[in-house]
Amino acid sequence: MENDPNRPWYRRLHWQVLVAMALGIVTGMVFGEAAAERIGWIGDLFMQLLRMIIVPLVLASIISGVASIGGGRDIGRLFGKTLGYYIFSSLLAVVVGLFFVNVIRPGRGTDITATEQQELPELATPGSPVDLILDVVPENIIGAAGAADMLGIIFFAIVFGAAIAVLPLQSRTVLTDLFDALFEAMMRLTTGIIAFLPIGVFALITNMVGTTGFEAFGALALYATTLAVGLTFHFLVTLPLILMVLGRISPRIHFANMRDALVVAFSTSSSGATLPVTMNAVEKKVGASNRVAAFTLPMGATVNMDGTALFECVGALFIAQVLGFDLGPLQQALVVLTALLASIGAAAIPSAGLVVIFIVLEAINLRGPEVNLIVGSMLAIDRPLDMYRTVVNVFSDSCGAAIIARSEGEIDVDAEVR
Ligand code: ASP
Repeated sequence: MENDPNRPWYRRLHWQVLVAMALGIVTGMVFGEAAAERIGWIGDLFMQLLRMIIVPLVLASIISGVASIGGGRDIGRLFGKTLGYYIFSSLLAVVVGLFFVNVIRPGRGTDITATEQQELPELATPGSPVDLILDVVPENIIGAAGAADMLGIIFFAIVFGAAIAVLPLQSRTVLTDLFDALFEAMMRLTTGIIAFLPIGVFALITNMVGTTGFEAFGALALYATTLAVGLTFHFLVTLPLILMVLGRISPRIHFANMRDALVVAFSTSSSGATLPVTMNAVEKKVGASNRVAAFTLPMGATVNMDGTALFECVGALFIAQVLGFDLGPLQQALVVLTALLASIGAAAIPSAGLVVIFIVLEAINLRGPEVNLIVGSMLAIDRPLDMYRTVVNVFSDSCGAAIIARSEGEIDVDAEVR
């Protein structure tokens, strides 16, 4: 076990990763773009390794998880709990953001012209709640797998797993054995990839620091601070409280069990790319069953994004403040609601949150060249903020999985640091 207490500290994964991160920051600062160009590809390679296993891992894990849950009633109950948790925690995150952006008011007197503009990446975003629902059902499962359309894949895997659960014994055994074995193999592969974590993290952080630098932060410092304060509050206060109250779980133990996954979330800026590591940690360290982890985590990575939800609210209100608008309670309520929807619609990839902010801005009628200019400046400093909100996204998913596992009678969950 990599966290065997008898190992010297430098042979334990989380220390190696922390050292890699520090080395990455120093290398990026000292050598700048040159280091990013030389080393960047190693980070890309690591991301690709993680992405490579997502589709087969999610398919195998959900199908084997759902097939083992059994028939309709159990799935219904698990689904209800999962969805309830997602909405509850994301709404709390938005409210935390709303509070801090109204108290700190970072948009007052901000000079956006001082920052460098960036082009927004082209990303498909759902236009309306109806589009969101239509997006869930894939036209073609192979196509969905090819496009890494996670919601489509999850939907197919759930209904397919449910179909297996009601088959006659003989066929059911063949298929559950097959998918259980496939899932085991994917987890092995994940463990193998995690061994390269320190190298991957070093390259990703060097690349980030080498290309982004820290200068652009000046003009947007108060906005970045507000967001960081909100995210920290949700991460260190709200989610731990939820863990304690709903799950009777010690936040310290849960955090310690999840630290590898949180580091990967931070380094990759993508809940999707982190998913294999999250699943590994929730099953092997937190100790949740595959049936709960497989059901809650893949969906959580795509749908449950507390950090992003908080960011949508802070970001949109920041833009309104810069433009001199004071939003009333009704408009702020609209921001809360659309921030929640935007976070559900955001893909689990880097910068996705900033792209869907337009959903929130449209809802309060903020559009036009000035708005694009402010969003462009926000993009200039988005990477580190994106890294942090991804950590919060992943942490909320793992808290949800642990709480739901406990509520299903799994008393071993987070009983100790593993
Ligand atoms: N990068 C975030 C994630 O993958 C999404 C976002 O941009 O907010 O979780």
